[in-house]
Amino acid sequence: MIKTEKKLRLNSSRGRRLRVVVREHYLRERVPCYSSLCQADCEHDGKLLSGTDDLTHYVVPDVGVVVDYLEILELRELKGIIFNQTTCQALIHKGRRQYNRLRNLLKDPRHESVLFANEFQEYSYSPREEGESQEKWQTRLVYSAAVWYYNHLAGMMDIVMITEDQDAIAQYNMLNSGVFVMSVKKYLKEFCPDLQAAHELYGSISQALQEKESEGTQKEFDEHLPEEVLEAGIKSGRYIKGTLNVGRNNAASILTADFIKEDADLTQGVLVFGTKDRNRAMHRDVVVAELLPNSQWKRKVTSLTEGQGQETSGEDNNSKPVPTSRIVGILQRKWRDYVVTFPPRESNQSQGRNSRILAVPWDYRIPKIRISTQQADALQDHRVVVRIDSWESTSLYPNGHTVRVLGQPGEFETEVQTILIENCIQVSEFSDAQMREMPVNSPEKPWRMDPAQVAQRRDLRESHLVFSIDPKGCEDVDDAMSVRSLDGGKLLELGVHIADVTHFVTEGSLTDVEAQQRGTTYYLSDRRYDMLPSVLSADLCSLLRGVDRYAMSVIWKLDADTLAVKDVKYGRTVIRSSYQLHYELAQALLNGEQAEVPELAELGSEEKGAKLAQLILALEKLTNIARRLRAKRDRGGALELEGQEVRALLDEERNITALVPKQPLEVNETVAECMIYANHWVARKIQETFPHQSLLRRHPLPRQEAFSRLVEVATAGGFTMDTRTNKALADSLDRAVDQQDPLVNRLLRMMATRAMPQALYFSTGLQSQDQFYHYGLALEHYTHFTSPIRRYADIVVHRLLNAALAIERGEDPGKLLAGYKEQDEMAQHINSRNRAAKLAQKMSVELCQCLYFKERDPQTDPCCVADAVIYNIRDNGVLVFVPEYGVKGAVYMKNREGQVVFAAQDGSCEWQSGSVRRYPDKITTTSSCGTSTFRLFEHITVRISVHSKQFHTDSLNLVVISTKPHRSTKPQQPRSQGRCKLVQEVVRLAEEASQQKAARRPKFSREEREFCQSKTPNLYSLLEEIRELALIDEDMAGQVLATKA
Ligand SMILES: [Zn+2]
Repeated sequence: MIKTEKKLRLNSSRGRRLRVVVREHYLRERVPCYSSLCQADCEHDGKLLSGTDDLTHYVVPDVGVVVDYLEILELRELKGIIFNQTTCQALIHKGRRQYNRLRNLLKDPRHESVLFANEFQEYSYSPREEGESQEKWQTRLVYSAAVWYYNHLAGMMDIVMITEDQDAIAQYNMLNSGVFVMSVKKYLKEFCPDLQAAHELYGSISQALQEKESEGTQKEFDEHLPEEVLEAGIKSGRYIKGTLNVGRNNAASILTADFIKEDADLTQGVLVFGTKDRNRAMHRDVVVAELLPNSQWKRKVTSLTEGQGQETSGEDNNSKPVPTSRIVGILQRKWRDYVVTFPPRESNQSQGRNSRILAVPWDYRIPKIRISTQQADALQDHRVVVRIDSWESTSLYPNGHTVRVLGQPGEFETEVQTILIENCIQVSEFSDAQMREMPVNSPEKPWRMDPAQVAQRRDLRESHLVFSIDPKGCEDVDDAMSVRSLDGGKLLELGVHIADVTHFVTEGSLTDVEAQQRGTTYYLSDRRYDMLPSVLSADLCSLLRGVDRYAMSVIWKLDADTLAVKDVKYGRTVIRSSYQLHYELAQALLNGEQAEVPELAELGSEEKGAKLAQLILALEKLTNIARRLRAKRDRGGALELEGQEVRALLDEERNITALVPKQPLEVNETVAECMIYANHWVARKIQETFPHQSLLRRHPLPRQEAFSRLVEVATAGGFTMDTRTNKALADSLDRAVDQQDPLVNRLLRMMATRAMPQALYFSTGLQSQDQFYHYGLALEHYTHFTSPIRRYADIVVHRLLNAALAIERGEDPGKLLAGYKEQDEMAQHINSRNRAAKLAQKMSVELCQCLYFKERDPQTDPCCVADAVIYNIRDNGVLVFVPEYGVKGAVYMKNREGQVVFAAQDGSCEWQSGSVRRYPDKITTTSSCGTSTFRLFEHITVRISVHSKQFHTDSLNLVVISTKPHRSTKPQQPRSQGRCKLVQEVVRLAEEASQQKAARRPKFSREEREFCQSKTPNLYSLLEEIRELALIDEDMAGQVLATKA
């Protein structure tokens, strides 16, 4: 090792040189190269660059390229990238964001890039020369690292250094054979001519860089205060820190912030009013704000607002002014990829080819983004993905560049991709490298269990009757059950068997990293994106009948009389399911009805009879146990939530043919109860072994104020609602039944559900024990264990359980578990992916609804007229639910022109000038012709049309046309069926349209269906998602997201 000195010139923030520090700098002969071609036995652990089989060269970008074009290097198609320590250090000085991105890139095993500690390598490092500029020195170091690689690998691999420094290209190119130096543009042209995404990015970034130099100087905003000042201000209490949440429907006007400071007045959030005081902060940024004096406080808006972007101060006389602040600094930017729409030519403010265009984000909460582009003409009227580069105080708008073009607004595929991007959902195809990790199961090479594995597992194949009960057509069976009597009937043995996914998915493998990043399987209205490749999810981890499968089992011995748990065993098993039942069949067997069990169809009548009797007996035992478990939880206050009341019907191809209200089959509850029981016991087990490192799921107690609207509505409807405990609430909901109209109870449950916070994953190391409670299920401990195929949380929990069992056996639990901080980050990540999944699903359903109605003329098509129930009263209108289509929305009683709805004798409605008045249980309109009344829970008739929006997502428009219930002339259909027929029709139309368009499609829309993996949503999962979907709605989404930054 050689000791040398390294001079560091530290600059002050104003650029004045402060001092020169001399540091000791140690050089070594051996610094790992991380190449699989290494001949020198460098010490490598972790990922390696491929050899000459896969790559023709390695790429070494210089500092400038990484600073400006990191995004291009992030494309996974670019392989074999060597980043240098010099670059990394330079990036740290440029700011955290860039540096973190590089770090993530290097950490990601799916991306083939490594970090070379070039400044520690004695043959690659050389000190800065007299008079040499910092930049030139860095470029020289990067070049000498490139040369080092070429020599170190004995010339087996060519090296390409990329730089935007023309002098360097002239000086270094051809200096050494095998080491090429070229510009980014030339590199892309020569080595990736087909990588369209890279060329487009290069074009848009270089354009944005040129424009950046011609910024104006006039200040539009106050400068942000330096970080030290912000930190000091927060400490002294002068400033408050929080996450900014821009209201979904009034982005341009009022912002609420969820401030971390625990001040009674501020817990409801603090307003930030107007763009000036928002001071360039954007939705979800972590900001620091200064409270304004009371005299400048504003009111919040509570009435229904039509349209967006109006700067109103909310003239609602009922509300008091609330604390209001202005933003003085931003601690953390939460910029992501945004979908914007380029305005049509006539309205854009450009001249010439090079123009700056104000593109309008699809998300109302995001300000317009200024884009410099040479493609202004081609891009107009297109949805485009953009990224923000900067937002200076001299600019009214942030500057950004384009990333890729999605297509035209209103096209089905464009809108679906928009939904994915807006929810930060990345679902590319599983890569070849990932697929190589997967086991093979093909007719030529059938998968078999490994005898060594079998020997280590408890074999239940002969001893236990295992069966699964799922919705019809379910292909990924991740849970199965068994039940039997022991000890002459004194004991009952209940078993829950879950697919052993972690056997196939090794921690840290490419498949694992991908699954973790996805966090969950995504279900949209017409397709799904799997978390795991289908060889696992639909095959080797699916507990199909008659095949051997690895499982993780929980097996309880229960006292037959009291159900007291005498013993519980967890562990890896081998099972072979005997029956793959569906709900209807299982229920029919329980009801003693004649039903054909496919597994028994071939048998002779005697054997069939015996097996059938055995199966029915097992189902009865299971039902009996589940009933009593459920009763126990009910006594503890478990809640039945709205949303459980819909279920989907599938046809042979597993397309959803209908979503129908649930005919409550007890067997659904039975299966759910067994899964809840398993989740609960696994939660107990891992928490016992790892009190500070367990991943559990909690459902926080709701705030009582959140129930105020429910209580108000219930009271107005003549019901009493006690919300003090989950038990009281559950009982009140059970009593709140209108004999004439079952919808009333459903709507109340829906409102109760909405009032509740989300259930969340968390690390037990970061919460006090009293926060572990699951309010909805009334359980002290809960987690997710039963669906590892489609939820990453369950994979984490399986690993924890296996580690706990290893410790119990006195073995090494393997790789040390994640610390609680790391685990909490994981929990937050999974929570955020779950929210994204739910929002994306909701948006995709709404998209289908809009496209369905867009095809119809609301004035003539009977499908556009529907029955609606009023479930909430607002100042200027009501909220209604349309059961036929599952649509919820606002119906205005007063329009912008000041006219009100007036109903004639026969119930038909028209607009007249007049006034509205709101009461707790009704809203009345008065015009010169008289008064009309709209009561809570009344059925009215609405006309549905589409409010088309060029820049944003379309929305449905509901207008009351009669105060009488709507009696459909169409034959009576199961409720909600319309929604699925609707999805099918929309998909069909979209496909037709895209075929027609294929010919005249612009060149850049070719990525179209690239991300689509599968078109068949899995039913069971869909149901679960729908169940939880009820927990989100628009006005809550902001708050939900706010709960944790
Ligand atoms: Zn080496």
